[in-house]
Amino acid sequence: LVGESGCGKSTLGRLALALEKPTRGRVLFDGKDLADLGRGARKHFRQAAQIIFQDPQSSLNPRMRAGQIIEEPLKVHRAGDQMERTRKVAELLKEVGLKPEDRARFPHEFSGGQRQRINISRALALSPRLIVCDEPVSALDVSIQAQVINLLKELKEQRGLAYLFISHDLAVVEHLCDRVAVMYLGRIVELAGADALYRKPLHPYTVALLESAPTLTPGLRRVRKTLVGEPPSPYSPPSGCRFHPRCPKRMEICDKEFPGNVEAEPGRFVECHLYV
Ligand code: SF4
Repeated sequence: LVGESGCGKSTLGRLALALEKPTRGRVLFDGKDLADLGRGARKHFRQAAQIIFQDPQSSLNPRMRAGQIIEEPLKVHRAGDQMERTRKVAELLKEVGLKPEDRARFPHEFSGGQRQRINISRALALSPRLIVCDEPVSALDVSIQAQVINLLKELKEQRGLAYLFISHDLAVVEHLCDRVAVMYLGRIVELAGADALYRKPLHPYTVALLESAPTLTPGLRRVRKTLVGEPPSPYSPPSGCRFHPRCPKRMEICDKEFPGNVEAEPGRFVECHLYV
């Protein structure tokens, strides 16, 4: 899920985990509406869906040792006895590239990248199927980001995990994601397979985002165009298409009518009058 800061990405992540209630619409997991889950089903959902936060520092309790932090969800969900939990914590530390002795250290004794590894192992403790990764590398040094991204990629493949990966960094998303949803001012304006989206973006906002992203590809000198203007306030969004004040392809209809969501190509959805 990509988009500029403040467009509503994290709110969508919290809705997906039932940490917030939707004012409209439904959130389905395994075909079931999260709002209708009973106590038992909700507990199962809490195990199946986890989150990795953006800031590895503030999301770890500074008074708890790494081993206790990773063990906590197992204790809360009464998973195994003490011996089994201890063994599980050792496995998780190893899986994320930390040493067995790291279990006795406090968060401040780790680097930023290592702290994010602790967060990842805590998220993995209950063997979830879905993890919401809310900008998990944006608070890390650039040199560490690639290591954590590669770890997430390996875990995804080895464990068959699904991520809802939230980021403003299009290069990271391209490296990790299969489908990309582009959000603007609280709306998904384009949803497509990653290959198709990067090869040929359809929505003018997606085009602008890709054109303004830096590239590290040697020899590729992209003509950088920056998005003009600031995103309007979500409390009083523009009439018609919310992107019209900044859109280079704006037409007469755009500030008058809200564009519907159209399947522009099989499996590819876009919210723009150009494709109606
Ligand atoms: Fe631009 Fe109009 Fe499409 Fe909105 S609906 S993105 S203003 S062309």
